[in-house]
Amino acid sequence: MDRRAIAISGIVQGVGFRPFVHGLANRWQLSGFIRNVDGGVRIEVEGDPRALDGLLDALIQSLPPLARIETLDWSSQPVQGDRSFRIDPSATDNGVPIFLPPDVGTCDDCLAELFDPRDRRFRYPFLNCTHCGPRLTIIVGSPYDREQTSMAAFAICEACRAEYENPSDRRFHVQPIACPECGPRLQWLDASGHPVSGIVDPIGAAVEALNDGRIVAIKGLGGYHLAGLARLSETVAELRRRKHRDEKPFALMVRDLDAGRALCEVSAQEGALLHSPRRPIVLLRRRPGIEIANDVSPGDPWLGLMLPYTPLHHLLMHDLGGQALVMTSGNRSDEPIAHEDRDAVERLSGIADAFLIHDRPIHLRCDDSVTRVVAGAELPIRRARGEAPRPIRLPIACDRPMLALGGQLKATFALGRGPHAFLSHHIGDLDHCLSFAAYEKSIAHYERLFGISPEVLVHDLHPDYASTRLAERIAGDRPRIVVQHHHAHIAACLAENGVSGPVIGLAFDGTGYGTDGTLWGGEFLVGDGNDFRRAAHLRPVALPGGDRAIHEPWRVATSYLIDAGEDPSILGDDVATAAIEAVARMVERRWNAPMTSSAGRLFDAVSAIAGVRRRVSYEGQAAIELEWRAAEVNDDGGYPFDIGPGDSPGTSWILDTRPTIAAVADDLRLGIETARIARRFHSMMIDAILEICVRLREETGIGSVAISGGVFLNAILSAGAIARLEGEGFRVYRHRLVPPNDGGLALGQLAIAAARLRNGGG
Ligand code: ZN
Ligand code: ZN
Ligand code: FE
Repeated sequence: MDRRAIAISGIVQGVGFRPFVHGLANRWQLSGFIRNVDGGVRIEVEGDPRALDGLLDALIQSLPPLARIETLDWSSQPVQGDRSFRIDPSATDNGVPIFLPPDVGTCDDCLAELFDPRDRRFRYPFLNCTHCGPRLTIIVGSPYDREQTSMAAFAICEACRAEYENPSDRRFHVQPIACPECGPRLQWLDASGHPVSGIVDPIGAAVEALNDGRIVAIKGLGGYHLAGLARLSETVAELRRRKHRDEKPFALMVRDLDAGRALCEVSAQEGALLHSPRRPIVLLRRRPGIEIANDVSPGDPWLGLMLPYTPLHHLLMHDLGGQALVMTSGNRSDEPIAHEDRDAVERLSGIADAFLIHDRPIHLRCDDSVTRVVAGAELPIRRARGEAPRPIRLPIACDRPMLALGGQLKATFALGRGPHAFLSHHIGDLDHCLSFAAYEKSIAHYERLFGISPEVLVHDLHPDYASTRLAERIAGDRPRIVVQHHHAHIAACLAENGVSGPVIGLAFDGTGYGTDGTLWGGEFLVGDGNDFRRAAHLRPVALPGGDRAIHEPWRVATSYLIDAGEDPSILGDDVATAAIEAVARMVERRWNAPMTSSAGRLFDAVSAIAGVRRRVSYEGQAAIELEWRAAEVNDDGGYPFDIGPGDSPGTSWILDTRPTIAAVADDLRLGIETARIARRFHSMMIDAILEICVRLREETGIGSVAISGGVFLNAILSAGAIARLEGEGFRVYRHRLVPPNDGGLALGQLAIAAARLRNGGG
């Protein structure tokens, strides 16, 4: 007989960990107890030493799907002669869970019940268990029990209670436990949001409406979706028209992996992502000739697919007989996704022909996550449902609790406590007032849920970001740490890789505020998680019209052409000569034309010159479509470029793009196909990245490179840069957990602030 005390930290509360250990202890005939403690669980077990070893092995090897062990320590204890194994009530809890699980897609066990006519939850659209179901989106406050979730209004029935209280049941202490007797119910509403009388089967009504080509608003986990059959051109075109959704692609839901493979090429790795409990939207290469309406994603060689992740989705997709469904977030263009019932009906009436809703409130709005596989690893695009608020371990722990407010676009924020960063779900662009309201509300909500009262605030250097202004407004006498935008990008990449530098950091994005007051965005920083210097950057050009240039890439193209000594009238086929001349004057007189070294704008400019896109309906569209074209041909070498000496202290090199732009203009005049121009430009960027990194390594001896910034969502650029850098012996750090775009900024801000506090600065 032996007794051991085992202390485990990590995501082990609210994920079925205690019943799991209870089951193991019974299997190995061990006695003792398990209880929740601050940040983890404490187990004491006694019995045969070999059985104790077996339990420890099983703990590590066969965890419940949602559990994550961070640390496990054990020590021997005097034997106490317990007779059985028990689960202690959480009397020692201080009421605040250290970790909260994200929402999780329906598990296989629940799915089997859903389609089993003998099960009491047969076709019940809200079944869930320890291993799956809603979490973050239904939690109202702490401690995490039923009274503090949006299930509080549903009185639990006797059958459910028996499961809830049985430690060997899959639904032991599952807060959202529900069944047809006691749980949420569906409702079918007409276009104006009124219940339709006489409907006994709302799913049947929805399937019929969808098959008739109608647009149905469907209430999901973190918000409403607008749905329509993906093969019906008129339906999808009508949805796009009613939603005012410019040209951003719509995501599709497919019944299962096989249905996904029928539409797209799906590698084993992509299949695993699609099928993972997180159930993100995965960007996949579409197959030729598939029966999908053109308006789903016009001209796009990729399709965003996801699998059903709630029982309701599974029932719908099953009853639709395998037809793919457009599932786009329920909002008008640029607004946050609708999640409150009355608000949803109000905002979506005029878009939806009918509503499939239910009476379980969504407490926290949360979009679908979006991701893709690049160079053999996941590259997240939007981190939201299924991922947030899973903690990320910081390389340097926060000595004081902190709040990092992130950026302006694709906003997220992050709370830091000790070694953990809790990065919020994607919220949206803060220049929209509804998004800003959601952002402010979510910050308060996370602070309450995690019991974190920030003593330090961290924000971007940009004085006009809504996040910066909020930090100033709420700081009071709390210190603020200000972080340069591109430094935060690099620090985010380092943090998720668990390192703190030194590194050569490539931060390529739209724009961010530089320490010299100009707009940066094509930066080679040398530094670490604490400080940096701007070692090299793209040659700055004027950005005529400032933000207007984002939607009219021909403006920045004009600027680049003038800079390279080329005649901007070559843009003339679809931009008025007078407009080009007006912009040329702005550039020459530096009137409303701030200087920028943005890599994103360079991609825009080349896209516009090559004739891929001269006007766009959303930021980054010109660059994205340039990548589509580049993928159509093979590499035959890159355009020329120059590397000149730096023009300010600390800056060693400037990447001079004038030869590049001149060569693009030459190819255009020669009538070279746009795909070829696009490819040669991508190759030039990869060549230039390698050349500058080699020079900086010679200068500094630093052989590690971190790549970050939204431009690195470009798969050709990322994969090419990684392969060439690794080929030259560099160690390359890239994003796998958080997006390289501004959705990851808050994590980097937090990492830098933690490092500065540790160094006594700040
Ligand atoms: Zn389940
Ligand atoms: Zn029940
Ligand atoms: Fe950025």
